[in-house]
Amino acid sequence: MDQYRVFGNPIKQSRSPFIHQKFAEQTQERLNYQSEYVEIGEFSQAVKQLINIGGKGANVTSPFKEEAMALCDKLTERAKLAGAVNTLSFINGEILGDTTDGDGLVNDLLANNVALKNKKILLLGAGGAAKGVILPLLEQSPTQLVVANRTVSKAEAIIQQYPAKPIFCCSFEKVTNYEFDVIINATSAGLNGQALPISEQVIQSNVTCYDMTYGIELTPFLEVAKLRNAAKLIDGLGMLVGQAAVSFAIWRNIQPDTQPVLTSLREEMSK
Ligand code: NDP
Repeated sequence: MDQYRVFGNPIKQSRSPFIHQKFAEQTQERLNYQSEYVEIGEFSQAVKQLINIGGKGANVTSPFKEEAMALCDKLTERAKLAGAVNTLSFINGEILGDTTDGDGLVNDLLANNVALKNKKILLLGAGGAAKGVILPLLEQSPTQLVVANRTVSKAEAIIQQYPAKPIFCCSFEKVTNYEFDVIINATSAGLNGQALPISEQVIQSNVTCYDMTYGIELTPFLEVAKLRNAAKLIDGLGMLVGQAAVSFAIWRNIQPDTQPVLTSLREEMSK
């Protein structure tokens, strides 16, 4: 059976084996996908071991996404721009690296009937998750994409990578100077139950609020969005399944249906 792994530290919390097993059942692909805990400093060894047993590919999660990029012989354009890799494929003795988070996010937004073309998007955060979604968001032709971050210099550095694109940056304090159709929270504040230091005024009733964080009933950001009667509230679980689907398609050349897997995952997580 073809072998796949997800490497991380910690990794026990990973839902990827569940998701990929469901995709494999659905598409009748024969594969074995397991999570593997990797000690810091031992990532490249873990990858080599997988290649040695004939492994076909791997997902990579925190904190190894940058290290994974450095191991690759070839990278997709979106992985280069993201500066990180979450999907490795082992083909003809080479390691190919890609990042699927952005397509996972965009596909989930579109599946939730959130239009992006000619819309104004606010992206909160400038960490790994934010960097990975910028190119796929720009490919949807928004009117503008504003990146706001607590440390503004990181947002500034990101937008410089996209000359001649409608992408701008600002501080959290300044976001109220603009109006948005879609606000995406790509900070990790919600994981720690922290509220974001942005004014509630930026969330108007026509705005879709998306939080990449998942596994929490309502993050502080989505709680505020609910109180502000935002048009739609969406958590990051669909993105998680979506990015896995893109990885699966890269490896197996078949596109799984994400919706039934998302439903099963929500059921599983509510147990
Ligand atoms: P990083 O550590 O790379 O970046 C963290 C970001 O959050 C930075 O922009 C940081 O700002 C900001 N931040 C952290 N705490 C606060 C706070 N209290 N107030 C304001 N800003 C804050 O994390 P990632 O980018 O990898 O992950 C971000 C989130 O996205 C996580 O919740 C993660 O679980 C989620 N995620 C979800 C995925 C999915 O499939 N749904 C996929 C990938 C990530 P600063 O630069 O100033 O430190």
